Amino acid sequence: MTHQSPGQISPCIDSRASKALSSSALERVHLDHAASTPVDPRVSESMQRWWRENYANPSSSHAAGVAASEALDEARRRIARATGAQAGLIVFTSGATEANNLAVFGHARARKARGRHVLVGPLDHPSTRVPALQLAEEGFEVEELSLDSSGALDLEDAQARVRPDTVLVTQMFSNNEFGCIFPIRELTRIVRRTAPHAAVHVDAVQALGKIELDVELLGIDSLSISGHKINGPKGAGALIRANNAPIQPLIHGGGQEAGLRGGTQDVPSICGLGHAVKLAEEERDESSARMSELMQSLRAGIIQRELGRIIDPGAPKQDMLPNIISVIIEGPPAEVFLHHLDARGLAASAGSACQASKKSMNPALFALGLKEEEARRVLRLSIGKVTTQEEIQRGIQILEEVRSELANIT
Ligand code: PMP
Repeated sequence: MTHQSPGQISPCIDSRASKALSSSALERVHLDHAASTPVDPRVSESMQRWWRENYANPSSSHAAGVAASEALDEARRRIARATGAQAGLIVFTSGATEANNLAVFGHARARKARGRHVLVGPLDHPSTRVPALQLAEEGFEVEELSLDSSGALDLEDAQARVRPDTVLVTQMFSNNEFGCIFPIRELTRIVRRTAPHAAVHVDAVQALGKIELDVELLGIDSLSISGHKINGPKGAGALIRANNAPIQPLIHGGGQEAGLRGGTQDVPSICGLGHAVKLAEEERDESSARMSELMQSLRAGIIQRELGRIIDPGAPKQDMLPNIISVIIEGPPAEVFLHHLDARGLAASAGSACQASKKSMNPALFALGLKEEEARRVLRLSIGKVTTQEEIQRGIQILEEVRSELANIT
């Protein structure tokens, strides 16, 4: 990641958009952009028309329906341009959870005559892990890829696990808790050498707008994305297929989305998604550089004030996203810490719920070798393209205040 000195980079969106975005954040400090982001006003403006003026069903054959259908095609073209895909192979969904479900079930079930072996990324999101576990109930043999002792994806282990009857490998591009970026191209090469029938699916939800995505260059079969992680609407996502290989639909109905996802498309949200993807891609370099600079300040603040231990899985072998870090904080469980942070106006998130049993805690924390007591103290801080240096400094101050407050209680 490149780091530039403060002041060198201006916010990547125009000041009007920036003002409107940050005004809703009030005076609170929002360090939870990996959970969701504010909708860019340019995106919400682009959606209005499809609620107010043209509300036609995109499958209708009259002029208004054709215009709505063309708007869907424009969104498809925008997403295709940003991901090196063909527009006709994009399937709109209700978000990345559905896109990941479609990929995991769809690829595996369509290939089951060729094999029943499935591999899942070690830190993958529940929206690929849980469907994979469901596949195991259907008779598939599901295994996890591993991390090496540094927390990087273990490619030697992957090489040993891939088999000629492997039909699906699903691996997230970058992690939503720790921000580590996985070596997708290398993994795909390994899969292609041994498993001719395998589909490689990549959850790119946290990577879009931060890392270059090109399905051809990555050599993968599909990619999932979500609108609300890139300053677009919630409830809008897509499965981007790289080829025409068969995939079994989950939702059957009126034949929409080339028969792969029945149901009338949500035209405003899909147009918003298309616009958000276009902006995220156009502004990627500038916003990533800006976020890297802010992240450097946040990291420095955490280290200098000894607020906790930053978890950097696989570093320096694996790169990190410019916007997410997890910290094992000093003191009580992260849920208690979060509550106090929230009361002082800082929004962040916990790696696991305080009351939860170990069994129901995020398995990613244990995959990294954390002890239960450490896993309970993991706090995630994530920034977005509207985050400012003032917010970062105020965030560090609040973290320090809460640490002192809780130290006095215990
Ligand atoms: N994958 C990852 C890596 C995510 O971070 C998320 C959202 N937390 C999802 C999938 C699910 O996305 P959505 O909210 O669009 O269903």
